[in-house]
Amino acid sequence: MKLFNSILFIIAILSLNGCTNHNKHQWSYDGIESPEHWAELNRDFKSCQKGHYQSPIDLHTKDALPTTQKLVVAYLPTHTHIINNGHTIEFDMDEDNFIAVDNKRFKLKQLHFHADSEHTINGKQFPAEMHLVHQAADGQLAVISLLIEIGDSPVYDHIFDKIPKPGEEVKVDLHLENFIPKNRGRYNYTGSLTTPPCSENVIWLVFKQHLLVPLKQLQKFKAYYSHNYRPTQQAYGRQIYFTEH
Ligand SMILES: [Zn+2]
Repeated sequence: MKLFNSILFIIAILSLNGCTNHNKHQWSYDGIESPEHWAELNRDFKSCQKGHYQSPIDLHTKDALPTTQKLVVAYLPTHTHIINNGHTIEFDMDEDNFIAVDNKRFKLKQLHFHADSEHTINGKQFPAEMHLVHQAADGQLAVISLLIEIGDSPVYDHIFDKIPKPGEEVKVDLHLENFIPKNRGRYNYTGSLTTPPCSENVIWLVFKQHLLVPLKQLQKFKAYYSHNYRPTQQAYGRQIYFTEH
């Protein structure tokens, strides 16, 4: 009887966990939980539909105005935890890495991937996109976006070799300083998170130079996530800017 009770207890804990996970993942890229329904899924997701500063957008490069925005990137080799969170493959940072945008400091929290790309350039979508998500002390976010094309690159040769199963994590070291192009030419605009709750006031820095990721690596990612991208959103007259350096 005692054994039976503990089995029941274990089953109860398992279903509680299942429940928690389910709540956490209550949006997706498919069917009734797909991007066009996000705002209906939870009242906290209203911005996904009502917001006028949503991301991603199509970047019309000929409309970009030049600016003198200053970007400083201070990335070092770093330890990371890879997680497979049901929406993407994410590398959580164990150490402090920073960027400064016009002298405001943002700490790198994590990087993750979307396939195909979320932002488009003059209507063109790319095979994938990497987001490096940074947060300032006041909570504001700044995201560096790298559009990805297929090609050989020593930096991304092994990027998806160690994808953990959902719920597990793997530790890897990254030479983060090589992760983004030395050429810092970029489009910037004000947008939102591209996943629920679609919070706005995010500084987007979309680099002009694209990353190359080997096809074999991208296929490893796509085995888990073949279409984890939000379609482009209305710009509502937002200005985009271009900075050369
Ligand atoms: Zn993202």
